[in-house]
Amino acid sequence: MVLAELQGSIIGALQQLQHATIVDDKVVNECLNEITRALLQADVQFKLVRDMQTNIKNVLATQYGSAGHDKRNNIKKLVCNELCKILDSGKPSFTPKKEKPSVVMFVGLQGSGKTTTCTKYAYYHQKKGWKPALVCADTFRAGAFDQLKQNATKAKIPYYGSYMESDPVKIAVDGVERFKKENRDLIIVDTSGRHKQEAALFEEMRQISEATKPDLVIFVMDSSIGQAAFDQARAFKQSVAVGAVIITKMDGHAKGGGALSAVAATKSPVIFIGTGEHTDEFEEFNVKSFAERLTGIGNLSGFVKKVQEVVPIDQHTELLQKLLEGKLTLRNMYEIYQYNLEMGPTSQILSMLPGGAELMPKGEEKEQQRKIKRRMILMDSMTKQELDSTNPKLMNESRMMRIARGSGSQVKDVKEMLEEYKRMANMLANTKGLTKKGLKIPQNR
Ligand code: GDP
Repeated sequence: MVLAELQGSIIGALQQLQHATIVDDKVVNECLNEITRALLQADVQFKLVRDMQTNIKNVLATQYGSAGHDKRNNIKKLVCNELCKILDSGKPSFTPKKEKPSVVMFVGLQGSGKTTTCTKYAYYHQKKGWKPALVCADTFRAGAFDQLKQNATKAKIPYYGSYMESDPVKIAVDGVERFKKENRDLIIVDTSGRHKQEAALFEEMRQISEATKPDLVIFVMDSSIGQAAFDQARAFKQSVAVGAVIITKMDGHAKGGGALSAVAATKSPVIFIGTGEHTDEFEEFNVKSFAERLTGIGNLSGFVKKVQEVVPIDQHTELLQKLLEGKLTLRNMYEIYQYNLEMGPTSQILSMLPGGAELMPKGEEKEQQRKIKRRMILMDSMTKQELDSTNPKLMNESRMMRIARGSGSQVKDVKEMLEEYKRMANMLANTKGLTKKGLKIPQNR
């Protein structure tokens, strides 16, 4: 699960607000300090974190005296907005247009996942109807061309490279020319990386860039490089006109905070993240849903999209309709748990729901699955009326005792599950009207 640990810490800190009877300065400061610590531990640059804390405090100071409940939700939103601000470069990335061939050049250090990502990027666009082609201008690393060739062949994408030519600029120019003649509309140039940032690498990048005049330069960064992210990203930006960032290996044990720093350093948006070694393990990056997931606010539109992708249409319409209307029964929650188990731990489907991420223990997917199964066993002991009710008063002590006995668990487990349900139901109720904002549910075929 991407950034699970950071997510767990931020949500944990925000939960302290929910549990506090009074949200006074002390509670707010403790919460913000914990979020600060979590971000620093996740390798987000110190200055960014400090600015974020200052901004939140400044806004809160102007809202002094607002009611406790609003304050809790407000702080959550402020944290989310600040994370968006860090991640939002302020300018949209160039998107290739089909009318004219676009040249996209990839840069990054050796081992960052550049060659793999070139193919992922090509494959992603090919599935959307583009005619991509790959050019290997990496003559520095032995085997780079073979690797690209292998990846491209598997994905059925035309490629160009040379075993004989040692001038990467010539290869890049020849490859781009050739594919332009062949009417390919997305020409991707893989350049060489080196073990470390050095003058020769930057000079080569500059020359290739000058010769091929790319429409977009993508900087590829390994998410596990930690605090070095900011400096590395800036060094690349200073040498070539980086216009977008792709962060790789987000599936690993990366702390991932480097992503936030890279955006700040390059003033360019993260457009995709790599989530595995396979060509299709590649996700479009959306700032808002990423920040919402990190703060547990949930990402209903992402959830709807995911369900639409994976679940047969006639099985999900009713559930989605209820979610979008902001109504949630325990039966709906049972269904969501079921989807989560079916789609597998990496689907992150639960974390997209408002309050859903709070179910996730820090980075422990197996524990999350076990917890969900325990919840479902509890629900199996509930009556039809209990499952379909939206009346919180229905669940009295004697019903809870019956459910606990029936499922071989304790009353406190039932209470915990009901609390979780209430929290999710409340948060969903707050999202009422999403359908009006253009989120549509397809009708049954
Ligand atoms: P390059 O030297 O920058 O071209 O890097 P490569 O494309 O050769 O990738 C280096 C290693 O990282 C390879 O073993 C890739 O399979 C692996 N890799 C690339 N992207 C990802 C990713 O998103 N997740 C994981 N787990 N591995 C990746």
